[in-house]
Amino acid sequence: LIINSLDSLIPNPDISNSIFLTNLIDFSNWSRLSSLWPLLYGTSCCFIEFASLIGSRFDFDRYGLVPRSSPRQADLIITAGTINMKMAPSLVRLYEQMPHPKYVIAMGACTITGGMFSTDSYSTVRGVDKLIPVDVYLPGCPPKPEAIIDAVTKLRKKIAQETYRSQTYYRPRNKYFSLNHR
Ligand code: SF4
Repeated sequence: LIINSLDSLIPNPDISNSIFLTNLIDFSNWSRLSSLWPLLYGTSCCFIEFASLIGSRFDFDRYGLVPRSSPRQADLIITAGTINMKMAPSLVRLYEQMPHPKYVIAMGACTITGGMFSTDSYSTVRGVDKLIPVDVYLPGCPPKPEAIIDAVTKLRKKIAQETYRSQTYYRPRNKYFSLNHR
């Protein structure tokens, strides 16, 4: 809400370097990185590793990450598993239903490149970044829970350095209609 109103309040981007606005943006960044709420989104085996984070052993909640079942309440999506052509429109719709600013972690080889399906499959999307913008790539098959925590830490560092002009709020729309990349 603060960031959205800044855009209308500040016609001149030069004054965004003022002490007041810098502190305001730092506060906004701190509040967002401390309460990332990921959407529960898993399509195959990678999600088993993600689900283990929710238990007491890894205690994901200590980072302020509270998994949500509704995209309206989420600002992070971790695409855990293979993305196929048939579910691509649903993924894009879920992403669009999330409020700004929002972030994406691409988890696992299948999500990032198509993985084992990248060479001879008619049904797999070869890179989720062809559908939605990705902030952090998390390789592995599957990545361990500790690696997911590391990816979230990298995302938190990225959020901490955002300025109000570089917010994902200003991202271009997704490239869903370029699905004919096969
Ligand atoms: Fe499964 Fe490996 Fe693909 Fe993850 S990267 S969805 S673990 S095959």
